[in-house]
Amino acid sequence: MSESNHVIETGFFGEFGGSYIPVDLQKVLTKLADEFDKYRDDPQFKEEYNYYLRSFVGRENPLTYASNLTEKVGGAKIYLKREDLNHTGAHKINNVIGQILLAKRMGAKRIIAETGAGQHGVATATACAMFGIPCTIYMGKVDMERQALNVFRMELLGAKVVPVDTGEARLKDAVDLALKDLVDNYKDTFYLIGSAVGPHPYPSIVKHFQSIISEESKQQMLAQEGKLPTAVVAAVGGGSNAIGAFANYIKDESVRLIGVEPTEAAPISEGVPAVLHGFKSFTLLDDDHQPQSTNSIAAGLDYPGVGPEHSYLKTSGRAEYVTISGQEALEAFQELSRTEGIIPALESAHAVAYAMKLAKTMAKQNAILVNLSGRGDKDVDQVYEMLRK
Ligand SMILES: *Cc1c(COP(=O)(O)O)cnc(C)c1O
Repeated sequence: MSESNHVIETGFFGEFGGSYIPVDLQKVLTKLADEFDKYRDDPQFKEEYNYYLRSFVGRENPLTYASNLTEKVGGAKIYLKREDLNHTGAHKINNVIGQILLAKRMGAKRIIAETGAGQHGVATATACAMFGIPCTIYMGKVDMERQALNVFRMELLGAKVVPVDTGEARLKDAVDLALKDLVDNYKDTFYLIGSAVGPHPYPSIVKHFQSIISEESKQQMLAQEGKLPTAVVAAVGGGSNAIGAFANYIKDESVRLIGVEPTEAAPISEGVPAVLHGFKSFTLLDDDHQPQSTNSIAAGLDYPGVGPEHSYLKTSGRAEYVTISGQEALEAFQELSRTEGIIPALESAHAVAYAMKLAKTMAKQNAILVNLSGRGDKDVDQVYEMLRK
């Protein structure tokens, strides 16, 4: 994609973001940006989006006061925003529903998506089944072997899973093929991106649809605590659940926003600004300036790049980014299960682990809001294997 790069000036967050892509693709994404602008605040569009969030996803989900964990840890109150209770078990479905509604407005006849661990593929296949729209998922062959059950889930849901065996046969190669499909078939095809990454306008689209998380949590927090949280804590992979959990608090300067990266895949904490997949952001690069391979126990966080707005929130000082190791996340996974009866996704367990550390340092009139991005059912086999060793 590097030869005919064409940079447009919109969609920047400070120096980050933008759109470093070939001219053909630029035309398609400019159209997408225009259509998104047209519908994002359209009352009918919003009503339809909210209808599906209620009737299909099961929103609004609760804000749970983790009283046992709070008592055990000592210090600030810990609250959990329960994205784990959504249909399909995580926050990803919020974004998928929004983008499919946009695709329908744009007259798309098919949806394509990429998936690494398979979670975004499953969420996309789920919503496509419900909307009756054909769905093609690109997935690296190596990832397909590792995540055979998610491939089966997608197929059960009626999606076509295309094995990608170019390059390293992993996520990056699946993204390249999905982009090529989009350029070849843009007239009837919508490319549904799964996190707050990619060239403009995708980071803004994904943030918009994930902002429902903090729209709800803010009202719930005010109703239950009578004040805003001291801090909002969320795990950061591509950055979609975190940006959604932060969005409605960004203007509230008193609220600390804290993104948690796995120590084993921490582009914001340890990367450098670089262009990857058509946008500029902090990225982990190896000695040959190629994206580094990462090694987080949480598949959804195992990515060398991050959404551009997080890079901006970091450099502008509005948000803080910290790291939690796989071992710490594994301990928090067990602790939340035992104390609260909630098995968190390994991704979310990173946020829980940091919240526990932070709570200890704060007086008890403070409240920490943790975005529990997903449930841990998908991770139980893996944790079983890890604990047996
Ligand atoms: C995919 C996923 C993540 C990471 O993705 P973001 O775009 O950073 O939110 C986090 N938690 C869960 C449960 C996931 O499925």
